[in-house]
Amino acid sequence: MSELLVLGGERVEAADGATDHVIEPATAAPMAEVAKAGADDARRAVDIAVRAFDEGAWPRMSARERGRLLTKASFLIRERQEELATLEARNGGKPIGSARAEIDIAANVFEYWGGAANKIAGETIPVVPPGLDVTLREPVGVCALITPWNFPAVIASWKIAPALACGNTAVVKPASQTPLTALAIAEILYECGLPEGTLSVLPGPGSTTAAALIADPRVSKISFTGSTEVGTSVMQTAATNITRVSLELGGKSANVVFDDTDLDVCIEKSLWSVFDNAGQDCCARSRQLVQRGVYDEYVERFAAHADAIEVGQPLDEHTEMGPLISEGQRCTSLDYVSIGIDEGARRVTGGTAIEGDGYFMRPAVLADVGNSWRVAQEEIFGPVVCLIPFDDEDEAIRLANGSPFGLSGTIWTRDLGRAIRVAKGIRTGTLSVNSASSVHTEAPFGGFKQSGIGREMGMAAVQLYTEVKNVFFSQE
Ligand code: NAD
Repeated sequence: MSELLVLGGERVEAADGATDHVIEPATAAPMAEVAKAGADDARRAVDIAVRAFDEGAWPRMSARERGRLLTKASFLIRERQEELATLEARNGGKPIGSARAEIDIAANVFEYWGGAANKIAGETIPVVPPGLDVTLREPVGVCALITPWNFPAVIASWKIAPALACGNTAVVKPASQTPLTALAIAEILYECGLPEGTLSVLPGPGSTTAAALIADPRVSKISFTGSTEVGTSVMQTAATNITRVSLELGGKSANVVFDDTDLDVCIEKSLWSVFDNAGQDCCARSRQLVQRGVYDEYVERFAAHADAIEVGQPLDEHTEMGPLISEGQRCTSLDYVSIGIDEGARRVTGGTAIEGDGYFMRPAVLADVGNSWRVAQEEIFGPVVCLIPFDDEDEAIRLANGSPFGLSGTIWTRDLGRAIRVAKGIRTGTLSVNSASSVHTEAPFGGFKQSGIGREMGMAAVQLYTEVKNVFFSQE
C-alpha cells in the first residue's frame, strides 16, 4: 500500500520525494509507504489554505451548505466503517471491535458538526448609548491541526469537523506512526464536494513539518493534541506570532473507589478505564485510589481480571488488548514497572513483554504505590496501573489532586452527597460518576493544569475556531 499527501485536495508526493514506512505494531513490519512531508510541504499547504480562506468557496458558503457537506461525510464514514476500522486496527494495533467503535465516533463527530454549522451565532448586547450592539462569530482563518497516534481518526475528526463547520481552512499534521485514516477522511470530504484548497493532510515528522506549520505567521490557530512536553514547545513557538493555541495534553487520572460502591460493576469498568487501547489513552485512570475497607479485595479481584485479558492480534474478534504502538512505547512501559518496583510497589501481576513479533506485553498491576512516587506522578502511556489505598473523602480528594495533570477521572460511590462533594473537590476537566466514560461528542472535553488549555467537543469548540467581532450600530 502506498499513500500520497493530500495537498488542498490533490494527491501529491512530498516536495523532496521523501517517503516513510508506516509500521504495523502487531508484526513490527511495514504496512504502507507514505509520502513524508517536510517544511516545504508545510509552506505549500499554508499557501493553499490562505488562498482558499481569502478567495475560496468554503468560507463564503452558507453555514447550512457547509453543514450538509459535513453530514454527508458522516454517512460516508459510516458506509466505509469496516474498511477504515481495519486500517485503524492494523495501523494502531487496536482490537477490531474498538477500532469499529472509534470509526463510529468519528462519524458521530461529523454528524454533530453537520447539524451545528448553522447554529453558530453571536449575541445582541444592551449597551449604552442606545443603538444595536451585536457580536459576529467569524472563522479564525487557517488552522494547523496536530494529532497524536493513539486515536488517529477520532482526534483528527474532533479538530477537522469543528474547524470546517466554523468556516475555516485547515492543514492537518497526523502523527507519523498513524497517518492512514486522516488521509482517508480528507479523501471522503473531497468526495463529498469540499472545495479545493480547504483541507490538506501532511504526514511527516513533528520536529520539521508540524514545527514549520506552527511557526508560520499566516496560521491563525493551532490545535494540538499530544504530550505535555511537545505542547510546551508548541505554546512557546505560538507566542512568537501571538497565534491562538489550544492544547490537549497528557494525564494521570484518578479512579476513586469508595467502599460503598458495587464492586462487581466498578472493577470491570475500572479495568478498562486504564487498560483500554493498551493504556495508551490520555484519559487512562492509571492511578486507582481505593478506600482501605475494600482495598485488599479490590487488588485481588482487579489483578484476576487483568490476568484474564485476552492479549492478541488486532484483527482477531476475541482480542481485548493489542500491541503497543512501538518498541519504544513498550520499553518505556516496562521500564516504569521496574521503576515502580524499585520505589517499593508490589507487582501483583503482568508487566512482562510477550515474546515474538510485535510490541505486545501483559498489563501490569502495581499495588501499595505511594502517590508521590514517579510511577504515580509521570504519564506512562502504557498498560501499567498504580493501586493506592486511602482512608477518607478528604484524603481521596487530596491524592486525586496530587498530580501535575488534571484531565479526567471517575468517582465510584452510591452516596450522592459524597459524589457531589468529591466531584467539586477534584481539579480535572472531565469527571464521571459510576462510569468509566470520559469523552462525549456533545460535551466539552479538555484539561486543567498541565493537561492543557481549551475545550474541544460540543459547542464549546466554537470558542476555539471562531473570532468574536463586536459591531455597534448607532441609532442616531
Ligand atoms: P507527541 O507530543 O509526541 O506528538 C503529538 C504530535 O505532535 C504528533 O503529530 C507529532 O508528530 C507532533 N510533534 C512532535 N514533535 C513536535 C514538535 N517539536 N513540534 C511540533 N509538533 C511535534 O505525542 P504522541 O506520542 O503522539 O501522543 C501521546 C501523547 O498525547 C500523550 O502524552 C497523551 O496523553 C497525549 N494525548 C492527549 C489527548 C488529550 O485529548 N488530552 C489525547 C490523546 C493523546
